[in-house]
Amino acid sequence: MSEKIELVGLNLEELTAHLAEIGEPKFRAKQIYQWVYVHGATDFEQMTNLSKDLRARLAEKFSLTRPKIVTEQISKDKTHKWLLEFADGQRIETVYIPEADRGSVCISTQVGCAVGCTFCHTGSQKITRNLTAGEIVSQFMVARDVYKEWPSTSQENRMISNIVVMGMGEPLHNVDNVIAALKLLTDGDGIAISKRKVTLSTSGIVPNMLRIAKETGVKLAVSLHAPNNEKRSQIMPINKRYPIEEILQACQEYQKIVTSRFITFEYLMLDGINDSLDDARQLIDLMKKFKIGAKFNLIPFNPWPGCPYQPSSNNRVHAFAKELEKSGFAAPIRVARGQDILAACGQLKSKKLV
Ligand code: SAH
Ligand code: SF4
Repeated sequence: MSEKIELVGLNLEELTAHLAEIGEPKFRAKQIYQWVYVHGATDFEQMTNLSKDLRARLAEKFSLTRPKIVTEQISKDKTHKWLLEFADGQRIETVYIPEADRGSVCISTQVGCAVGCTFCHTGSQKITRNLTAGEIVSQFMVARDVYKEWPSTSQENRMISNIVVMGMGEPLHNVDNVIAALKLLTDGDGIAISKRKVTLSTSGIVPNMLRIAKETGVKLAVSLHAPNNEKRSQIMPINKRYPIEEILQACQEYQKIVTSRFITFEYLMLDGINDSLDDARQLIDLMKKFKIGAKFNLIPFNPWPGCPYQPSSNNRVHAFAKELEKSGFAAPIRVARGQDILAACGQLKSKKLV
């Protein structure tokens, strides 16, 4: 028997084409699409508006799976991390970060990462492979399963409201699958998370940035982390390929396409490396020069075993934030979540720690 076709990851057109092959009309594809993405079905037997015979035929040709939950950990602050395993045995991590009245699922896009930022635990792992669109979407579906937040199974107050594409991997190194996944996650007839509630973070892979704007319209976050090319290239070697000026020009274009959205610049606070007031002033000059509607997110560095940096002191972080705020930029300091279970930014890694 030939291999089954996985339904999670197919869009409506693809599903329609596969069903046509077994003689089923378009409206059936729509029904099945809703079972998969609106109701979160995990078994064909749940599809009660399809005949028993069709359910059996579907189960022969298609599969409807979730990645396996290998381990899960819940932090003191309720941050929830899953180590997920796909059919070929590859593993990634997905994190759910609850807040007072909402919550974000942080999803991964690659096993490992090829960018190799010197401060990042994932980056120290090298790249194994890209995730498929289905594997990206299924991480969000696992979170909805665990918290029983499918529209048809949940109570009124659903908490999982946002998605951040900030887990393992560089999303713009896997841009086709990431776009396909974002379209599924934001499809009003399916999973239906609003584009405004989805943020993609990139280290600045310039040639692919505008595809995200044009094809998905989600919010953009850029890992800037330094105010000039010299410093940025030191901590993010990819900067030699895509320097700050090119990234900021792409941000200007992004903002023309996805209007009325601020671009978030993530700025990791590394002790003695990029955290002086002079660094803050250079950053302000840069933003003024490029006239980008920008806000900052100051990220305390999350250490990991063997990392070469120290976090900046609280005083330095606050002084840096104040300097940006004096010039009219929002610069909240990100509260590190899930540090005790290595679920915070830059701590994700799927291989065992030694
Ligand atoms: N590859 C993408 C998205 C994943 S990383 C990117 O780099 O933007 C998500 C965020 O975590 C990025 O801003 C990244 O710079 C940051 N990060 C990486 N290592 C970190 C660490 N050790 N502590 C805190 N944040 C870190
Ligand atoms: Fe890759 Fe992002 Fe980590 Fe850099 S910070 S190594 S781009 S995951």
